[in-house]
Amino acid sequence: MLRYTPLIKPAVISLLLLLLGVLYYYYSPEDNAWFPRCSFYLLTGWQCPSCGSQRVVHALLHGEVGQALRYNPFMLVSIPYAVGVVLSTTWASPWAKRMRAILLHRNVVLAYVVLFVAWWVLRNIL
Ligand SMILES: [Zn+2]
Repeated sequence: MLRYTPLIKPAVISLLLLLLGVLYYYYSPEDNAWFPRCSFYLLTGWQCPSCGSQRVVHALLHGEVGQALRYNPFMLVSIPYAVGVVLSTTWASPWAKRMRAILLHRNVVLAYVVLFVAWWVLRNIL
């Protein structure tokens, strides 16, 4: 039986992020119908804040920052923030603890939520 150690959770999450990176590097969400589609867009016809995020990841993994910006510029803020939150809440180190305190500070989270909602509205009215 596998014993739990503090390194298993961060190792598994890091491995999953790596596998997702490999998947999105080799397969384009634009050319493969088996990638999940946005339920909000399918139901309403409006774009959610993260519409285009899979294409953004694929473009960024190929170094196409301009293309990623055209797909969804807000993801260039959200992806590093999300990766930072996941890694800092997964790893148990002094560095991760400091990073977690910054990323999950009330004002930082509030600013992110305000930007998230503003982006959601703006991308559907512009
Ligand atoms: Zn969407």
